Amino acid sequence: KSRVVELRELAESMNDMGLEIKAKIKALQDEERRRNELIANLSHDIKTPIASIRSYSEALVDEVVTDPAEVRNYLLGIGKQTERVVSFANELLAIAAIDDKEIAYKPEVVWIDELILDTLQAFEAQISRENRLIDVQINEDCVSVVTDKVCIQRILYNLVGNAIKFSKPGTSIKLHIYCDNTFTYMEVKDEGIGIPEDELERIFERFYRVEKSRNQQYGGSGLGLAIAKELTEFIHGKLTVSSGQGIGSTFMVQIPNQRV
Ligand code: ADP
Repeated sequence: KSRVVELRELAESMNDMGLEIKAKIKALQDEERRRNELIANLSHDIKTPIASIRSYSEALVDEVVTDPAEVRNYLLGIGKQTERVVSFANELLAIAAIDDKEIAYKPEVVWIDELILDTLQAFEAQISRENRLIDVQINEDCVSVVTDKVCIQRILYNLVGNAIKFSKPGTSIKLHIYCDNTFTYMEVKDEGIGIPEDELERIFERFYRVEKSRNQQYGGSGLGLAIAKELTEFIHGKLTVSSGQGIGSTFMVQIPNQRV
């Protein structure tokens, strides 16, 4: 090779290296930006309920409210906001467990009727208080499925919780379980506010919430669906959604069958 060719090759490889370094720097900067956003989100989500707990308790201590019914409302408010912080902490722990691969796939026979009953039991008080009709339909061929019980319970819990949260009291929620030779399908359908079509892709992202204003009204961390989706994939399934604004949403968990 002539010296000129050698030098040109050297220059080209240095150029390639330069581009590679630039791309790496950009990736690191992006990661740093995402991390900062995440920390900002986290501290906001923790500060908001704590700020309301503080103002409720200050009002009680300063005896701004003394009427027993109002005092009770303030105490209920404190309880609700405390619940928000606790459930946020639990969701963060669940996400951390997924990231640290601390969860193990432990397949066992899961009886469908028990699974649905357990899930609904967690919301029993709210369901009766809000006068809701829960329509459960289990196809007679789907008695059980072999999967990780803890994961599938958590997935359904998050989906039913959202169905209740994003629909009005008095409206109905439908759970429909059916199966074919390969899969078991679990649908959670509500008659709630729905999700705008252009946001459907993003709702499964960690911390993603549709419209900030909505969130003020409903509360929430934006982690529930990310957890549901990641756990569904962990048990070799798929989580999909279809929704119409003002009509309602249907989330479908599809998991591979190993029935007994
Ligand atoms: P959040 O803690 O806010 O409920 P999720 O990850 O569970 O977080 O959901 C992300 C966003 O998707 C919610 O903020 C909400 O706007 C929207 N969403 C989820 N489930 C429903 C539903 N059943 N009906 C309408 N919107 C929903």
